[in-house]
Amino acid sequence: MSMKCFHAFSAQVILVTPTTIAMISEANAPAPRSKNEDIKEASHFLRGTLKQEFADTTTAYISEDSSQLLKFHGSYMQDDRDLRNERRRQKLDKAWIFMTRVRVPGGVATPAQWLKIDALSDKYANGTIKLTTRQAFQLHGILKHNLKPTVQEINAALLDTLAACGDVNRNVMCNPNPGQSEAHAATYELSKALSKHLSPQSRAYYEVWLDEELVAGGEPEEVQEPIYGKYYLPRKFKIGIAVPPSNDVDIYSQDLGFIAILEGGKIIGYNVTVGGGMGMSHGQPDTFPRLADALGFCTPEQAVAVAEKVLIVQRDYGDRTNRKHARLKYTIQDRGIVWFRQEVEARLGFKLQPSRDFTFDGMGDRYGWVDGLDGRAHLTLFIQNGRVRDDATTKARTGLREIAKVHDGDFRLTANQNLIIANVSAANRPKIEALLKEYKLDNTHNRSALRLNSMACVALPTCGLSLAESERYLPDLIDELDTVLDEAGLTNDAITVRMTGCPNGCARPYLAEIGFVGRAPGKYNLYLGAAFNGTRLNTLYKESVTQEQIRPTLAPILNHYARERTPGERFGDFVIRTGYVKGAEK
Ligand code: SF4
Repeated sequence: MSMKCFHAFSAQVILVTPTTIAMISEANAPAPRSKNEDIKEASHFLRGTLKQEFADTTTAYISEDSSQLLKFHGSYMQDDRDLRNERRRQKLDKAWIFMTRVRVPGGVATPAQWLKIDALSDKYANGTIKLTTRQAFQLHGILKHNLKPTVQEINAALLDTLAACGDVNRNVMCNPNPGQSEAHAATYELSKALSKHLSPQSRAYYEVWLDEELVAGGEPEEVQEPIYGKYYLPRKFKIGIAVPPSNDVDIYSQDLGFIAILEGGKIIGYNVTVGGGMGMSHGQPDTFPRLADALGFCTPEQAVAVAEKVLIVQRDYGDRTNRKHARLKYTIQDRGIVWFRQEVEARLGFKLQPSRDFTFDGMGDRYGWVDGLDGRAHLTLFIQNGRVRDDATTKARTGLREIAKVHDGDFRLTANQNLIIANVSAANRPKIEALLKEYKLDNTHNRSALRLNSMACVALPTCGLSLAESERYLPDLIDELDTVLDEAGLTNDAITVRMTGCPNGCARPYLAEIGFVGRAPGKYNLYLGAAFNGTRLNTLYKESVTQEQIRPTLAPILNHYARERTPGERFGDFVIRTGYVKGAEK
């Protein structure tokens, strides 16, 4: 039987049959949500069954749904991939382990906090500390029953892991900036304020890990999560604060960036950038790294409100169907920066000012000692790929522990996986210098500038997404490339090189002058031509280059650069000028 009705959209009389009803319903039905949206909805604001599952000592793992929720609490379930094949052969389950990421807003930690992380790395983790590309600590290799005491001890040291991962605002990065202490103080305060304001408000974290009494339940969304709501964000959200001329935080890779604008050494406000992001998937051209757009200028007092409204627009318009298209960069790419600015300004109730002029000169760290304005000094140390360990070649972890015991300032984790021993008093400096010498920590003088400008993500054996080695391989690759550089006279020429084990881009490889992105065991996509100051992405030069092919592929280009570069020309600019790659379009 058929019936007549008015179609709501066309206001035309159309004949509708049961089949057309089904077709219309399908066409008008909301797009299906990703599974993670259901997990978030069912979790009662991030509680889920985490508490019960971590109390269960009969298994070494947790359920898949819980492992998704666990990310909001700052930890990942992983397995030791070095052991996978052997365990499979022996018909054993995977060697389940957990990684926890300690949020350190602005990367500033006290000596007592350093000592706690150091102790935990031995007590519960694999004896190493990873300084991440987002100025956080990571501890790897924690067994399930040890995760709760680990998180408890981290909190007792006034640090936490809350929102270090998950579909929320992550660790807020901030230029550690020891040379401009007044500007650093202001940006550091902003990083803490942003971190606090955009932290999840649900008490789930405290109930699961710190045995806070369970909330009775049924509290309205606006009480549990006034900013996020029960679905949180469509995907992760990253904020960075840069102080020109340093672009060490890779401001254009951040979902939301604040670029400090200084007048007379004081911050008068921030240029706001939105829509940067690194991740992509191999073979899926609709996923791509993207540089952020300029949104406008705000005063220091407006910055937290701007951040909240940017986050809320993304919360409301980000893609909740396809997680590979769910970052803010795609919302802005699809809808345009003009639309986005209007949405943000409508929620703010005021207009942003036009962006101000500034210049970036590089993304790297300035190694060695610098003197602050107040008589204290700061030392930036190179930590290869951010891994602090003791082994046959280094006693860096012991050395830094001994320094932490006598240090009267603070530690600053840099966005390049390095470490600043900051605010060293004049009286204490000789003690620190003696320990640096004893443990061979102040060693930038015998490293190539390529190595000093290198970064690698963790990748194998702990990252479940890794397709190839990264942290364990890049140092050996740089040994090989150093021979080319030495012969070409480029040992002291700063060239940025970054490697990741997969295209997710945790070490921001698409902003390196030489970028390697893992494709398969022993194979990498080679990217060339990013700008040294982080204002231009690199582009794909060769796909699936094997480890053996890397040196012969790069050597002629590096030699060409040594011979024919113009005065002051950077490697990334040279490879574009001479046609190895096209410049990435913005
Ligand atoms: Fe893992 Fe990929 Fe991130 Fe490296 S870039 S840590 S392989 S997800």
